Amino acid sequence: MAAKKLYDSFSKSLLEEVQRWGSMKQTGVSLRYMLEFGSRFTDRNLILAAQFLHKELPIRIARRAIELQSLPYGLSQKPAILKVRDWYLDSFRDLRSFPDIKDKNDEQDFTKMINLIKVRHNNVVPTMALGVQQLKKDLDPKLDCKDLDDIHQFLDRFYMSRIGIRMLIGQHVAMHDPNPPPDRIGYIHAKMSPVEVARNASEDARSVCLREYGSAPEVNVYGDPDFTFPYVPNHLHLMVFELVKNSLRAVEERFMDSDKIAPPIRIIVADGLEDVTIKVSDEGGGIPRSGLPRIFTYLYSTAKNPLDEQADLGTADVATMAGYGFGLPISRLYARYFGGDLQIISMEGYEEDNSESFIAGTDAYLHLSRLGDSQEPLP
Ligand code: ADP
Ligand code: MG
Repeated sequence: MAAKKLYDSFSKSLLEEVQRWGSMKQTGVSLRYMLEFGSRFTDRNLILAAQFLHKELPIRIARRAIELQSLPYGLSQKPAILKVRDWYLDSFRDLRSFPDIKDKNDEQDFTKMINLIKVRHNNVVPTMALGVQQLKKDLDPKLDCKDLDDIHQFLDRFYMSRIGIRMLIGQHVAMHDPNPPPDRIGYIHAKMSPVEVARNASEDARSVCLREYGSAPEVNVYGDPDFTFPYVPNHLHLMVFELVKNSLRAVEERFMDSDKIAPPIRIIVADGLEDVTIKVSDEGGGIPRSGLPRIFTYLYSTAKNPLDEQADLGTADVATMAGYGFGLPISRLYARYFGGDLQIISMEGYEEDNSESFIAGTDAYLHLSRLGDSQEPLP
């Protein structure tokens, strides 16, 4: 239990400091603000941004560290969760022991340090997933949804906060790129083409599907490829990748043993006044109504748990087709982070009929807010 031992070395005063910072007020940032601030970056601005992060990051990180210590059902004691908690405490300590940022040199050292923090936290999602899976095994399967609600709410807050922290760090680090690609302001692409991102994400999902099933249905993307708006391509890629993987799996499972040709998945990109909406439609048979309320929870998956076959997390392959039950809830958080949302509408049906006109399936609606004026959600 290396994680436990490490914890003993955290001093009492550090934990008191965590408590103190964890009760301070967080400050949100909007997409528009990041765009405007990032497009006039001078040394002075970089120092100001670093000073802001020096105060803001420990507040956000301390809140998560505190929550990680007080989870229900003994979740806090799971080795995987202890490991994550220690990453948060280490990062808090690194930030708090960094001296005041006064000049360009300090700013550069600070940037290196927060970049290392970002790397330290790279595997938080699969590690948390492992902890939650360990808990799932212990829990009485009859435990009702209300009991699990606490854990679900916690994970929603936890991952939302992580998205924000990584966005702030990533944005700051990227501003130091001496040759930024055109129209890039840190992580933000001022002229992102959603059609292009959807195509790339679909191809990535198809290759995972090919590897897993030996074949992959077609994915057709409809919409104007020249249409662009400011957004974070990484975020959109992740969301479409997860949605398309789900659709590919549904279609594969339904048509695997059939002599019919698997119907293509259709992605439609529509630009409205308020939202850019991306609809992912499949004819994979849909989701039973009894499962629908649970698809956005972190414990629900109808796929075999990939961790069962992997002895330790070091070998866990995050790009698996399905099985963690994290794809939908995490994608919805990414959408909400910038004021958007994700909805799933499904029509169930498996009947073997020959009429091509009526095939049941799932529609996922991904709404991305166009204006980016909404403040970061701050759990
Ligand atoms: P995972 O894919 O790891 O199981 P997700 O959060 O992505 O986790 O999806 C949760 C569950 O929702 C899936 O296991 C599946 O049962 C159901 N689901 C999601 N999308 C679809 C879809 N397009 N068609 C049928 N079922 C779906
Ligand atoms: Mg999935």
